[in-house]
Amino acid sequence: MIQAKLTGIGEYICSEVPELASPKEGWAVVKTGAVGICGSDIHVYKGVNPVLVPPRIQGHEFSGVLKSLNGPSELKVGARVVVNPVVGCGHCIDCKAGKQYLCNEAYVIGGEVPGAFGGETYVPIRNLVPISDNLSFVESTIVEPTAVAVHTVGDVSNKTVLIIGQGTIGLLCLQVAKNQANKVIVVDVSDEMLAVSKKLGSDKTINSRTGDLDKELKDYLKGEPLDVIIDVVNRQKTVEFSIRSIRKGGLLIWVGIPLKEPFAFDLVTLLCNEIKIQTSYLYSEDDFIRAKNLVEQKAIDACTLVSKVFKLKDTAKAFEYKETVPSIKVVVEV
Ligand SMILES: [Zn+2]
Ligand SMILES: [Zn+2]
Repeated sequence: MIQAKLTGIGEYICSEVPELASPKEGWAVVKTGAVGICGSDIHVYKGVNPVLVPPRIQGHEFSGVLKSLNGPSELKVGARVVVNPVVGCGHCIDCKAGKQYLCNEAYVIGGEVPGAFGGETYVPIRNLVPISDNLSFVESTIVEPTAVAVHTVGDVSNKTVLIIGQGTIGLLCLQVAKNQANKVIVVDVSDEMLAVSKKLGSDKTINSRTGDLDKELKDYLKGEPLDVIIDVVNRQKTVEFSIRSIRKGGLLIWVGIPLKEPFAFDLVTLLCNEIKIQTSYLYSEDDFIRAKNLVEQKAIDACTLVSKVFKLKDTAKAFEYKETVPSIKVVVEV
């Protein structure tokens, strides 16, 4: 089979390798159908992730065919599946509750251990989620980032929500938030991304680079309170903006990965206005299944989010493209 391996910083090499041996008990082998390139994959590719460094086999946003199983399952060999890549110890209180993201031993397939660019991947049987025949492997790669959005938006419904950042996760948070009957205002620095956001249902778009964010927001809200801000960027400026713009008792949800540098913010206003802060990084098993259902029901427009599809043997080109051409999701298929 063909394997695409990150061999060094900025260097992907494809080669012919033997297929994987039979899985250990409780595990399965999934033959890759399609795999998405995540922003976090790019960080590792560029050598800016402090923990995960090359050489490495990446790919955590993936779907494919169940090739072999070692243990009881309702799924049969040949089933089409999408993979929840978050693996926990399996026996702590959080794993038992399906909250592997809180397990102290949690890791991500395609992060700490080999993922779907390898052509085949070892996956715990518990992490296999079947997909219907009318959902393509390429569309299914959107399920994993959608799970992040489902976890981020949580049970926020019938509120006025502002989302900072309209990259993949921001656009997915928008669609999940709209699905839960929220009014959604979005902010980004790219008119192209704001046009996509409009198409996907945002009620108001603001370009914070070319426009006056505070004024445009005030004019739009006309005194109506802003209940929730989802920050998919998390920089000094966006946190300052959020603290001064959110209603008293409002909710700030932080999902963007901040830079390493510490930054300061107005703790007094935060405290006196009783602003709540919630963070979001991964997702539960339930979030992942909800995400799969949303993508399957087309409540999430996966096709609009996929900018370009490459073949696995062209993975090097796919990473180069993702790095150099403005795009949303770049996917590699077998
Ligand atoms: Zn990802
Ligand atoms: Zn655990």
